[in-house]
Amino acid sequence: AGMQITMGTGASQGPSGVMMTPAAMPPPSQIQKAKAEWLCPTAVANILKSSLGPSGLDKMIVDNVGDVTISNDGATILRQLDVQHPAAKVLCELSELQDKEVGDGTTSVVIYTAELLKNALELVQAHIHPNSVILGYKKALRWAQRYITEHLTFPVAQLGPDTLLNIARTTLSSKTVSADINYFSNLCVEAVRSVQTAKADAPGQFEYPIKAINILKAHGRSMNESVLVPGICLPMARAAQGMPRVVRPAKIALLDFGLQRMRMRMGIQVEVTDPMQLEAVREQSEVAVVRKRLEMIFQTGCNVILCTGGIDDLCLKPFVEANAIGVRRVNKDTLRHIAKATGGQVLLNLSNLEGEETFDAACLGEAEEVSEERVADDDCIFIKGCKTTRACSLLLRGPNDYMLDEMERSLHDALCALKRTLESDEVVVGGGAVDGALNIALEKYATTLSSREQLAISAFARSLLVIPKTLAVNAALDATELVARLRAAHALSQQPDTKTPELKWSGLNLVTGDVINNLAAGVLEPAMTKQKALQFATDAAVAILRVDDHFKLEPEPQ
Ligand code: ADP
Repeated sequence: AGMQITMGTGASQGPSGVMMTPAAMPPPSQIQKAKAEWLCPTAVANILKSSLGPSGLDKMIVDNVGDVTISNDGATILRQLDVQHPAAKVLCELSELQDKEVGDGTTSVVIYTAELLKNALELVQAHIHPNSVILGYKKALRWAQRYITEHLTFPVAQLGPDTLLNIARTTLSSKTVSADINYFSNLCVEAVRSVQTAKADAPGQFEYPIKAINILKAHGRSMNESVLVPGICLPMARAAQGMPRVVRPAKIALLDFGLQRMRMRMGIQVEVTDPMQLEAVREQSEVAVVRKRLEMIFQTGCNVILCTGGIDDLCLKPFVEANAIGVRRVNKDTLRHIAKATGGQVLLNLSNLEGEETFDAACLGEAEEVSEERVADDDCIFIKGCKTTRACSLLLRGPNDYMLDEMERSLHDALCALKRTLESDEVVVGGGAVDGALNIALEKYATTLSSREQLAISAFARSLLVIPKTLAVNAALDATELVARLRAAHALSQQPDTKTPELKWSGLNLVTGDVINNLAAGVLEPAMTKQKALQFATDAAVAILRVDDHFKLEPEPQ
């Protein structure tokens, strides 16, 4: 018997939750009623809380084979945890979803959800039906989304040339790279700008395929020696010094196998009387096969071969004769990436359907130039001017694998944030500014309703404050006082005849422990991060609230 699970709100009050039909009901011996562990989503959120914001701390996770991951990114942390509780699992998936759809805000979304659930529980315990809470939350979400769009967003162009840098800075401020935040923010902005491509279906509009930004990691040197280089860069050298340093234009064969001498099959018997003959047989059957393959490939005009396997020293001569570059042990994913950028095709072998070896020139990728150049004392292969997409590479340097991996994740978050900003052209102010403004506005909206959703909308408004509270706690500040000041500022700005409308950009300054104008301070985020985080968090909270009981089936005794 498998495991069938419904999740419990602990509020078994009638028909709100999923009921099992009698037909689907397993025999009573198999049902073990599980305790509704409400705290489990909260426990997951508590793990992440301390890593939110610029003063957030990192987590070190050691898996069962001893591999260590050090990260500040919510999705990465939750991916590594072995979460058992079904409701808590929803939170892990949520963070993953935010990571896929937006790329940033993965910690915030989990913290929001847990707080929404916590406040919903209080209402349910006060005998408010879960359905009323659900309706209230949905209403609050719709209203909040509209409020953000109408009152709290700006187009990027209105904010001046530093906006993009500020966006990158806000995302990177909580990560390992924050020591050199200006350097890395610049790097990310340049990288995103360099892959800008015009949209085919909408003239005048651009898209930013950040997949075309190839992130490479190389041990050694310090973090701020990371560089952005045009084209695709491979941190490896040519297979032999005799090969040319540059070929222009390049026709690239992408082989997912090695160019090594063929070993004769086991069990083949060759009778010879002279040791010299043995060598000749070997040469004929083992080396000639690879030579023939190379000849076939070079005949199509190919002048660069990248392969995932090795290249035998015996095969180097044909390369030099054909004036071609050969690179061995290219990573498989990189090879696929190059194939996409150059319009080539990765070949698993050269056999056609009849089993004969052929090589079709259509499989060749094309680029303006392939060259070997020195970057910071290391030889790298560059593929520039790729046929189908503009590409660039970020070559990251750092002391060890943990740092490099975390740098890659952090830069990826920043690149995603920049892409979202440039594509949607909308930003909001960070540091709890949106949460503070929404809290006051929603409280006011709740009092205009005389229905039972009023309490739920108020609870939704209260839940939003978890972000500024957590930001302040993590920065070792007085959260209660700061949040009170934040709310006071927003309440003032939302009065009908306010003299200080600029107070609506009030957010936390986590260094001085003040409430300041975060728009002027340049703490900016893409509006999409906030909008999606709120939407996903409400959806997940509602999904969990709809469930009123939770069963676990014990496996049938054998
Ligand atoms: P997430 O994974 O959810 O993006 P982060 O750890 O990156 O979490 O933290 C993001 C939060 O930190 C956002 O709410 C953002 O507004 C806030 N934040 C980032 N930089 C600053 C800053 N300089 N001052 C105040 N708040 C900041």
